[in-house]
Amino acid sequence: MNAQTRPSPTVFDVQRVRADFPLLSRTVHDKPLIYFDNANTSQKPLSVIEAVDQHYRLRNANVSRSVHLVGEEATAAYEGARDKLARFINATSRNEVILNSGTTQAMNMIAYSYALPRLKEGDSILTTVMEHHANIVPWQLVAGRTGATVKAAPIDERGELILEKYFEMLTPDVKLACVTHVSNVLGTVNPVREIARECRRRGIPLVVDGSQAVPHRPVDVQALGCDFYAFTGHKMLSPTGTGGLWARKELLEEMPPFFGGGEMIREVSFSGTTFAAPPHKFEAGTPNIAGFAGVGAAVDYYDSLGFDAIHAWEQQLLAYLTERLRDIPGLRLFGEAKEKEPVVSFLIEGAQATDLATLLDLQGVAVRSGHHCAHPLMQFYKVPATLRASLAFYNTREEVDAFITALLKVRKLLM
Ligand code: PLP
Repeated sequence: MNAQTRPSPTVFDVQRVRADFPLLSRTVHDKPLIYFDNANTSQKPLSVIEAVDQHYRLRNANVSRSVHLVGEEATAAYEGARDKLARFINATSRNEVILNSGTTQAMNMIAYSYALPRLKEGDSILTTVMEHHANIVPWQLVAGRTGATVKAAPIDERGELILEKYFEMLTPDVKLACVTHVSNVLGTVNPVREIARECRRRGIPLVVDGSQAVPHRPVDVQALGCDFYAFTGHKMLSPTGTGGLWARKELLEEMPPFFGGGEMIREVSFSGTTFAAPPHKFEAGTPNIAGFAGVGAAVDYYDSLGFDAIHAWEQQLLAYLTERLRDIPGLRLFGEAKEKEPVVSFLIEGAQATDLATLLDLQGVAVRSGHHCAHPLMQFYKVPATLRASLAFYNTREEVDAFITALLKVRKLLM
C-alpha cells in the first residue's frame, strides 16, 4: 500500500467506537486492559448487550409456538436475525441459513447429516494442515465409522496453503473438501473462490470455515462459490452459543436432520414422521433466542461501521504490530502470508508461550498462548504452542505500543 492509498487514521474514529464497548474500559491487575484475544472471542458492543437485556425484560417467550404478542415478538427477533445474517453473507435465501451454536455445531451437522450417509470405504475427506480442530475431528469421527479417511493438504513455511497440492489431492475418492477462510493461528486468508472453482469442476462440495473471516471482511457466499459456509456468533460481536451455517438449498433439502425433536417436524406419528422444510428441519428444540436478538444487533453494528472502514483500520494495525514485533530480537513470527487478517502468532527464543502470556496478563494484556485448537499446525512448525495476538477494529496503535512495551518487559524478566 503506498502513502496515497493508505487511509488516514482519522477516518476511523476508534475512540468513539471504543466507547460502545463497556468491557474495554475495565482494568486488570490495576492496569488498563489491552484486549488482544479477539480471535478467541470478541467483545460485545452495548447495543448487543442491550438487545439481550431487552429480550429478557420485554420479549421473553418461546419462538414459533405462540400466538400471543410476546411470543410473536420473540419470533420476530429470532427470525429477524436470520434475515440479517442472510443479507450479511449474501445468501440467496433466508431458508439457506441455519441458526445454531456456532461453527463446531455446523461442522458436526455437515459430518453426520451430509457426509456420514454418503461415505464408504476408500472414500476420503480433504482438509488442510492449518485447520482448527472443528474442521478436522468431525470428519475423522464419520470417516472412522465408514472406513473413509481424512487427508490434509500441506502449507508452506509462510503459512500459505500449497494450492497446487490441494488441487492435486482433489482426486475422485474425495467426497467432501474443506478449508478455512482465514486461519485462526496465522491470519492467512485462503483463496476460497479459486478452491471452490476447482471443487465445482470436479463435483466435490466445499465446506468453508468462516469463523475468523466474518468478523473482518464482507463475506459473499454466492461470489465465493462454496457449498457450506460456517461461522460463529461470539467472534462477531454476538453472544456466546450463537452461530450459523449457510448451505445450498439443494443440499439442505437432500440432507436428513441431525437432531430430532420439537420444532423440526411437519407431522409426527408412529407410522412415520415427516420433517419441516429447511432451515427449521435442522433447528430442533428451543434455540438461543436471546442470543439471536444479540446477533441481530451485532449485524446492525457492523453495518453502521461498514467493512471498508473496519478492514482499512485493522490492516493498518496489523502492519504496525507486525513491524514492531519484527524489531524484537529472538522473536519468531508464524504466518507471513501475502493476505492476512489481524492475527499474529509468535514465539520468543528462550521463553515459554504460557509464561509470556501469564506475565503479560499482569501487565494488563490479554493474549492467548497454546495450540489454538490446531495441533497439526503446531506439528508442522514443530512447536508445542505459540503466543497469539489477535486484533479487532476497536484496538488502537497506542495499545500496540503498550503491548510491545509490556512484551519487552516480560521478555527481560524471563531471560
Ligand atoms: N474454526 C475456527 C477457525 C475457529 O477459530 C474456531 C474458534 O476458535 C472454531 C472453528 C470453533 O468455533 P466455536 O467453538 O465457536 O464453535
